[in-house]
Amino acid sequence: MVVEKAASVIIIGAGVIGTSIAYHLAKLGCRDVIVLEKESTIGSGSTARAAGGVRHQFLNEVNVKLSVESIKFLEHFEDETGSVIDLRQHGYLFLACTELEMADLRQRVALQHKYGVEVHLLSPREAKKLIPALNTADVLGASYGPTDGRLDPYSLVQGYATAAIKLGVKIYTDTEVVAIRAKAQQVQGVSTGDEEIEAPIMVNTAGPYAGLVGKMVGLDIPVHPHKKHSFFTAPSDEIPRNAPLTIDLHRDVAVWREGRGVAFNGPDPSQTDGFDTTVDWSCLPKIAERVVQPFPFLANAGIMRAEAGLHPDTFDKSAILGDVPELKGLYLACGLNSQGIMHSPAVGRIMAEYITGIGSDPAISLLSLCRFKGGVLQKEWFSPGGEPEIKSG
Ligand SMILES: Cc1cc2nc3c(=O)[nH]c(=O)nc-3n(C[C@H](O)[C@H](O)[C@H](O)COP(=O)(O)OP(=O)(O)OC[C@H]3O[C@@H](n4cnc5c(N)ncnc54)[C@H](O)[C@@H]3O)c2cc1C
Repeated sequence: MVVEKAASVIIIGAGVIGTSIAYHLAKLGCRDVIVLEKESTIGSGSTARAAGGVRHQFLNEVNVKLSVESIKFLEHFEDETGSVIDLRQHGYLFLACTELEMADLRQRVALQHKYGVEVHLLSPREAKKLIPALNTADVLGASYGPTDGRLDPYSLVQGYATAAIKLGVKIYTDTEVVAIRAKAQQVQGVSTGDEEIEAPIMVNTAGPYAGLVGKMVGLDIPVHPHKKHSFFTAPSDEIPRNAPLTIDLHRDVAVWREGRGVAFNGPDPSQTDGFDTTVDWSCLPKIAERVVQPFPFLANAGIMRAEAGLHPDTFDKSAILGDVPELKGLYLACGLNSQGIMHSPAVGRIMAEYITGIGSDPAISLLSLCRFKGGVLQKEWFSPGGEPEIKSG
């Protein structure tokens, strides 16, 4: 494939974040943009493995604001881009089983209310009304956000890409960036092995590979690829089609209706960081043990298939956005943890405005790379005074 030799902006990685930034740049009139993707299809990284969950219910303000802006955008995605993303706002239900988790929910709800988001604290009985199959024996309470929901991540990434291409952006697949060239602390371009492409601006949207791309210029970007499995059951109507996606805070698992069956996922702490995405079936009993408590019917559900994907995780569970003081022209939009799908609209808008010099959203300073070197962390876990164990989300 012959690739053009120069562009105004090179975006490294055509996942949901890279394509959203490309679209937003083009919308602002910056159309001389090239997106390079190492795989043969766009959106085949973490984006392809996401559950497509979209929620307002975060624990820190910057993430709530990203959600509020993004969900408004997603509600009008078809008008904006012409693509259908199958957004279904059936809600998110968070379950709390301890007093500490209840305090976590109260904090989330208060924060949502501050930003005008509809979210309710529910009794176990009210939660069970939403999903009759839910076992509430040890549930103390729940929070329910009716405007949260799910969408199809593949349609979302395709939607951004198609709209960006229509505006003049070029996306090249099977094109891996293997080196970044820089001179006098200013980026010059990239090498793909076969080609040299010049650009004064480069955006690292390599998802779980963002750290490897950082290494190309000697930069430490603390994004950790963490493997997470999702399991899909045989057809079952135990969870109604319009039921909310349930997150059991106590057991760190998510359960939702998927097609004709049910899906669930959760981290397996024994999995170490790495780029392998083959399914490790030994995770199933460890995760199943946790999901059968809130959903006992799953003990007898046949598992039809499983998939594993990489979370691009950061230490505080919030994204890394902005530029890099050490190297002019290099921008970062990575480490989206478990929120890349849902925050892609706001991240795209914020990064495009920052790159073009139109504006600097407060998220740029709050989520800068510098925060990991003694700055203020944007923690996405509840810590009333102390520093309890980090949840892997
Ligand atoms: C099991 C699971 C469930 C999830 N559920 C949700 C959810 O419900 N809601 C939600 O919002 N998020 C969810 N996420 C997280 C979400 O998937 C990610 O935050 C999001 O996809 C990150 O998007 P990205 O564009 O940064 O990364 P990616 O989608 O991984 O895109 C990065 C791209 O860069 C490419 N690339 C890497 N290195 C190079 C290189 N050197 N040259 C060229 N290309 C390169 C990769 O091939 C890849 O396509 C989930 C993740 C997992 C694993």
